[in-house]
Parts: sequence; C-alpha cells; structure tokens
Amino acid sequence: MADDRNNLLSDIVEEVKMCRRDLHQNPATCFEEVYASDLIARKLTEWGIPFERGWAKTGIVATIEGQSTTSGKRIAFRGDMDALDILEDSGVPHASRIAGKMHACGHDGHTSILLGTARYLHHTRNFNGTVHLFFQPAEEGGGGAYKMVEEGLFDRYPVDSVYAIHNWPYAPRGMVGIKGGPIMASSDEFFITITGKGGHAAMPNQCIDPLVIAAEAVLAIQTIITRNIDPLQPAVISVTNFQAGTGASNIIANDAKLIGTVRTFHNDIRAQIEKRIDDILRGLTTAHGATYTYSYERNYEPTINDPATAATCTHIAQTLFGAGRVMTEFPASMGAEDFGAMLMQKPGCYAIFGQGEPDTPDSPHNYGLHHPKYDFNDAIIPDVIRYFTAITEKQLKI
Ligand SMILES: [Zn+2]
Ligand SMILES: [Zn+2]
Repeated sequence: MADDRNNLLSDIVEEVKMCRRDLHQNPATCFEEVYASDLIARKLTEWGIPFERGWAKTGIVATIEGQSTTSGKRIAFRGDMDALDILEDSGVPHASRIAGKMHACGHDGHTSILLGTARYLHHTRNFNGTVHLFFQPAEEGGGGAYKMVEEGLFDRYPVDSVYAIHNWPYAPRGMVGIKGGPIMASSDEFFITITGKGGHAAMPNQCIDPLVIAAEAVLAIQTIITRNIDPLQPAVISVTNFQAGTGASNIIANDAKLIGTVRTFHNDIRAQIEKRIDDILRGLTTAHGATYTYSYERNYEPTINDPATAATCTHIAQTLFGAGRVMTEFPASMGAEDFGAMLMQKPGCYAIFGQGEPDTPDSPHNYGLHHPKYDFNDAIIPDVIRYFTAITEKQLKI
C-alpha cells in the first residue's frame, strides 16, 4: 500500500513539474491568468475531476468527494495562479516567454501542487467528506481571494476550514513553518494632498508652501510608530511617494502629494494609525494655514491562523517530516497575503515551506520572492502534496 502510494506520488510529481514549468513560461497577472486557467481545466478534465470555472474571472473550484461523504465535512486548499510585472533574469531553461511578466513568487508552483493534490486525492479517495480546491487569480495586489469571497465562494462551498502554503526562499528546503495567530501583515495605503498657496519662490511670505508642511508631515507620521504604538506590536508606516512642483526652481507649488503604506497585524493598530495620521495633518495644516485631503484604504487583512487548526497542522507536519523539520517559532512577515480574506471567514492555516538551497549558493531558489533571478524549487512538490493529503485524511477521517 505504502509502495503503491509512493509510486503514484512520484508519477504525479513528474507531471506536476511539467505543469509548473509550462506555467512558468506562460505567466499572466491580475485576472488575466487565462493560460493557467485553461491548463487547470484541461488537466482536471483529463483526470475526470469536476470543476466550476468563472470564479473571479479566471479562478476555478474543483471538487473531490471521498470514498464516502456521510461525515458532511468539507475542507478546501487554495493555490494562487498569478505572476508579477518583472523582467525575468533567472537564466533557467523554462524562463518566461512573455517579456515583463514573471512567476517570481512561485505561484506557478502553488497552482501545480494543487493540481497534483487533486489528482492524488481523486485517486486515493481515502477520506470521508468533500475537498474543494480553490485556484485563485490576482493574489499580487488584485485581491482575487476577496473577489471570490464576495462572489459567494463560501455560500456555494461551505467548508469547515481552509489551507494554503507559500514557498519560502528564506528558509532551507526541508523546513516547514507553522504557527497559530498572525503570520502575514495587513496591507493598507494612504493618499494625502496638502494644498497651500503657490507663487514666486522669491516671495515665500506671499505663499503657503505645501512642501514644508508635507516634509513636516513625513517626519511627524514616523513618530506614530515610535511614540504612539505599543513597542511590542510590529507596525510599519512608509511614505513612498512625495510629489510637488514642476521642476522649476523659482515656483512654490500649490499642492504636495504623499502616498504610503501601512503594515501591521492588528485591526486596532490599523485604526489607531489611520486616526493619528489625520490628527497630524489637521494640526500641521491648521498651524500653517493650509488645507488637506486624506484617504486611508484598507486593502489586505492580516493573515491570521486559527490556533487550533494550526496546532493540528503542526502535529501533522511533525508526524510526516519529524519534529526537527517543523518551525513553530519564527517571525511573522510584514509582507501581505490575500489568503487573509479567506481566514477572516473560515478557520484555517497558512504554512511556509522552505525552498532555499544553502549548499548551492548561486541557486535561483535562494533568491527572495519577487527577485528577477528567483525560481520556484520543484524539489518541495512531494512534501506539500503529502502535507495536503495528510490534512485531508486527518480532518476528513474515515
Ligand atoms: Zn508575491
Ligand atoms: Zn506569493
């Protein structure tokens, strides 16, 4: 039985690798993942697995029933499909054929692993219940998970829990990171326009200079982190754009625009930062006789693992891989992940799978996510399929 399973897994892994490299050569971004969507549909059809297309444009949900469904239980695995606007410089034989688009976050791997898991579970069906596979577009800023949830994903597929992974070049291959609580940060944006009174640069007394006020605002906003937020709570505010003036040296601008991002793990801190930025702008513009507009947009929720589900997944991973390969204490990332949208609705667990190759320093698997030399490490595929299968067989136990 174990040998049969190993043979099946190694057959599937070879096919998954081919899919992964195919997807890598044909990347697309933000709801334009037609190539990936067609490939997924073709493979599922070939294997006789039912699915539904059209979720968030290019998304697909596949459904696999166990040898029995009397438990009434359902779980889901999610894989993201989209690439990034990056010119690839990896030099790998399967490099992107589309200039300026690249799978630099390994979502080609995540999608292919989900396909492999589908085929494996469809073959073994060693569970009582139903598994759904969420192939999700537009993770990189487009909020594809939010769109699927808004379209009624969990009404149509009322799962008990949801699971996902991300490959992790910052940890060596073989290591798995799982923990309860926050694992990826929220990601918000703010947009500020400070309006003064433009005029001749030689007559500042006739003007209200918005640059000076905006410069004070950039510095004052940083004090929110150092003076207002609990020092034990991680939070980042970065002002990333400062726009004013026409390029002329002799004109005081009428307006200055600031754009930035806020990352944290708790909604009360987001609310605190949103309000404090407004307080600072109101105070500074009042002091200088200027006006302002300010909008704060909440984009991605923090990704927060349900502690009980994460504990179950930790135990599963320790059993599969050995306790020494499972990290339960590691820093959460200030990066964001739209799987948080699903974890706001359902308990679940987002795990990281190390893919670095420390013994091969120039390996493309060691480059950070979103780097033009990065490549997903196919060597982690079997472990992730085994992990997803073990979750299925535990949560939908016969
Ligand atoms: Zn990414
Ligand atoms: Zn990613």
